[in-house]
Amino acid sequence: MSDVVLKQVEKRFGPVHVIHGVNLDIRDGEFCVFVGPSGCGKSTLLRLIAGLEDISGGELSIGGKVVNNVAPKDRGVAMVFQSYALYPHMSVFDNMAFGLDLAKKSKDEQHERVMAVAKILQLEELLDRKPKELSGGQRQRVAIGRAIVRQPGVFLFDEPLSNLDASLRVQMRIELTKLHEKLKSTMIYVTHDQVEAMTMADKIVVLRAGRVEQVGSPLELYHHPQNQFVAGFIGSPK
Ligand code: ADP
Ligand code: MG
Repeated sequence: MSDVVLKQVEKRFGPVHVIHGVNLDIRDGEFCVFVGPSGCGKSTLLRLIAGLEDISGGELSIGGKVVNNVAPKDRGVAMVFQSYALYPHMSVFDNMAFGLDLAKKSKDEQHERVMAVAKILQLEELLDRKPKELSGGQRQRVAIGRAIVRQPGVFLFDEPLSNLDASLRVQMRIELTKLHEKLKSTMIYVTHDQVEAMTMADKIVVLRAGRVEQVGSPLELYHHPQNQFVAGFIGSPK
């Protein structure tokens, strides 16, 4: 079980109060999308869940266990960033195997897992290449593959497609949706893109200035936006 539950979560950077009493209940296997204007705290919330930042107040649990003080590597989460952050000197294979090596998995297991994921993401022909020999879409696939090989219960995506051109974005959106159906993992996905949010999400969380403005399915938010702000983000006719 990999549900993610936030209770009255707060985040301050020194005097700057960025996240205000956020309550969220993201169910195991759900595809949850965070939307909201630039600077509203989407990335910060992901980083709190990943353990890349400490929470200043409240409680965060993953899979029924409070993880406020649990190290990132022990949370069962993997994060995919907007900038792919691949290791330039390593091959695609080694980029994908790197986290498994750190986790002291045997070479056989590393090989088995990387090959299985390469097949899912159609990276089999590219395993010997270096990142600079790949297109933007291929690099992003490697970054996603690197997260999948770790078999996390929870994937965190921070605007993973925003550096891709429009047609590739559409293609990757479809691939990610298929991947979610296949892996059945919990996915938390930050995007600016209304179409991504509406087509991919089971649940959309609309954030505004560090607070949750509204939570619901795409259809609920579209037909019953609580206010003009939500309507504007979701593209409701209201
Ligand atoms: P979003 O991803 O929605 O654009 P962020 O989570 O990146 O927003 O940022 C939310 C707010 O927190 C912004 O006002 C940003 O300036 C501030 N912030 C983020 N990280 C830090 C930090 N390390 N120190 C101080 N302020 C930060
Ligand atoms: Mg951000």
